[in-house]
Amino acid sequence: MIQVLSVTSECVPFVKTGGLADVAGALPTALAQQDVRVRTLLPGYPAVMKSLVKAAPVLRFDTVFGGPARVLEATCGGLDVLVLDAPHLFDRPGNIYLGPNGADWPDNAERFAALSWVAAQIGLQGAQTWRPDVLHCHDWQAGLAPEYLRAAGSALPCVMTVHNIAFQGLTPALNPARLKLDPDRFSADAYEFYGKISALKAGLMAADWLTTVSPSYAAELMTPEFGMGLDGVLRHRANRLRGILNGIDTAVWDPITDPEIKTFKSLRGKAHTKAALRTEFGLPVSAGPLCVVVSRLTEQKGLDLLLGALPNLLNRGGQLIVLGSGDPKLEAGFRAAAKHSQVAVHIGYDEAMSHRLIAGGDAILVPSRFEPCGLTQLYGLRYGTLPLVGLTGGLADTVINASPAALDRGVATGIQFHPVGDTALRTALDHLCDLWSQPDVWRKMVRNAQKQPVGWDRSAAAYAELYREALTS
Ligand code: ADP
Repeated sequence: MIQVLSVTSECVPFVKTGGLADVAGALPTALAQQDVRVRTLLPGYPAVMKSLVKAAPVLRFDTVFGGPARVLEATCGGLDVLVLDAPHLFDRPGNIYLGPNGADWPDNAERFAALSWVAAQIGLQGAQTWRPDVLHCHDWQAGLAPEYLRAAGSALPCVMTVHNIAFQGLTPALNPARLKLDPDRFSADAYEFYGKISALKAGLMAADWLTTVSPSYAAELMTPEFGMGLDGVLRHRANRLRGILNGIDTAVWDPITDPEIKTFKSLRGKAHTKAALRTEFGLPVSAGPLCVVVSRLTEQKGLDLLLGALPNLLNRGGQLIVLGSGDPKLEAGFRAAAKHSQVAVHIGYDEAMSHRLIAGGDAILVPSRFEPCGLTQLYGLRYGTLPLVGLTGGLADTVINASPAALDRGVATGIQFHPVGDTALRTALDHLCDLWSQPDVWRKMVRNAQKQPVGWDRSAAAYAELYREALTS
C-alpha cells in the first residue's frame, strides 16, 4: 500500500472556493480502491477546526512563521486529515484567501509557505509513526514543499498538480529566508521567476512528476497563450508532465438519489424538476431550452461573452438562470440582464441550489476562455443537462461536439465553440436552439451524455500508476 501525503489549501467537505476542493476531497476515496492510502494536510481554518472530531496532536512546533503550531490528526468527513493548527495564520473569519477588504491577505505568502514547510517536515521526519512514500502537492499553496525537501537533501518522491496556472504564488524576493527558503537556491533552476519568488514554479522545478487536470490543458500549458509565463518551464519539463482528467463525486452528483430533486428521481422527471426550478426563480413556461450557469463570475469563465450573446438565446424562446459570484462588474451585468422576464440571477454561493439548477436545466453553459478541467460540464453530462462549452482545456476533452458527423454517428453529447469569442458563442447558442427544436436528436444526446463515465475510476488508476512510477524512478 502506497502512503501519500496530499497537501492542499482547500478540501471538500471542509472548505471550498473552487474545483481544487472537490478534487482534493474526492480523490482519496477513489485512490483507496487502488491500494493507495492518502492523508490530507490542510490549514486549520475555523471551518476545518470546527469539523474535527477526536483530533490528536501528532507534531508540535514552537514557532512556524511567527507563532506556535501543531499538527492534529483526525478522521472526519470521510478523510484521514492532518490539520495545521496555527491560529496566527489561519484563525481568521471569512474567505480563506481574502481579507475583509476583498484583497489577498497580506501574509498569504507566509501562510502557505507554512503549510508547505510543515508538509516537508512530515516528509522528512514523519508524523509520529506515519511516514509518506509520496508527497502530492496541489497548486501554488503547496508548491514550496518539494523545494524545502530538495534544499534539505531529501529525494522523497513529489508530484505537483496544477489546477489553474493563473494562480502562481508570486512574492517579492527581498528576503527568501523570510520564507525559510535557501537564498543560495534563488535561481532560475529553482524558485526564482523574473526576479521574484514563485511558489508554483518552485514546485514545477523540484517535483519529480507534474500533472494537470486534463490532457488538453497539459498541452495548452506549454504554449505562450495559456502558460501565463510558465510555458517555458513546462516545456523544459515536458517529459514529466501528464494530463489526468478530473472526475466528479458520483455519489454526491447522482440524479437518482440527489436530495435536491424532490419531484421525480429519474431523467423522466426532468420536466418536473425543470418546472420546480422555473417556479423557484419566477420564470414563465417557455418553448426554448432552459439554460443554467453555475460559476465563479470571472474573466476566465467568459461570462461577459454570454451577456453579449444572450439575445441569440432569448429571441428563440430560451431562458437563463445564473448562480454565481465574483467580479462586481459581471455581477452587475447579470443583475441588469435579470430585468428580462426570461432571465433569473442569484448572486451568491449555494451548493444545494447548484444541484437544483444542474438537475432542472436543459443545458449548462460554460463559455470559458480557458478551463483546466471544469466540473460543471461533468455534472451536466451526468444529469442529462447538455453542456455548451468553449473548445479549451478539459472542456475539449469531456464533451463530444454535435458536429454533423457526430450527430450522424449518434455520439454527440454537447456543443463546443471555437474560437472563444462573441461570434462563435452566438452561433453556438443558435445551434443549441436548433438542436432543441429536434426532440429526437436532443433526447439521443441526453442519453449519450448520461452514459459517459464521469467518475474517478480511470483517473484514480492513472494517479496510482504515477505514484508507483515516482517510487521506482
Ligand atoms: P473553478 O475551480 O475554476 O471555479 P470548476 O468547474 O473546476 O471551476 O469547479 C467549480 C466548482 O465550484 C464546481 O463544483 C461548481 O459547482 C462550484 N461552484 C462555482 N460557483 C458556485 C456557486 N455560486 N454556488 C455553488 N457552487 C458553485
